[in-house]
Amino acid sequence: MKLKCKECNSKLVGRSDKKFCNDYCRTSFHSKLNRDQNATIRTINAILRKNRRILALLYLDENGKWIQKEYLQMLNFNFSFYTHSLVNSSQKNTICYYDIALCEGKTGWYKIKKLKDGSSSIFQSKAKSNLFLKESATHQLTAKE
Ligand SMILES: [Zn+2]
Repeated sequence: MKLKCKECNSKLVGRSDKKFCNDYCRTSFHSKLNRDQNATIRTINAILRKNRRILALLYLDENGKWIQKEYLQMLNFNFSFYTHSLVNSSQKNTICYYDIALCEGKTGWYKIKKLKDGSSSIFQSKAKSNLFLKESATHQLTAKE
């Protein structure tokens, strides 16, 4: 099988592990790859920022009130994208959008919450929740024995 340049598809001559005919093709191939990856990251960041913006605006009016999933969907909130999630002591999910979070209540209902300043507290509580999940998993295993 004759090898072809991954960029321009021309036949390669020389070493058998060659992937490109020259530096121009190699650079062009990799910069295209980076451009695609950056486009994906940009798209996701835009969705995350939009989600945060919706919550930030709602937070001003709806702070402490329960809001429905349908209401957020009506505002084009995208539930598929979030920055991280936390599990609180009552096993409820807190879905975070940078510094603003949706706390799950009964099915389809949420409260908007601002996370406390200082990212360390965010990551500490994440670590705690992981530990909590690990412990409960261990308990389940023990119970089965
Ligand atoms: Zn080439």
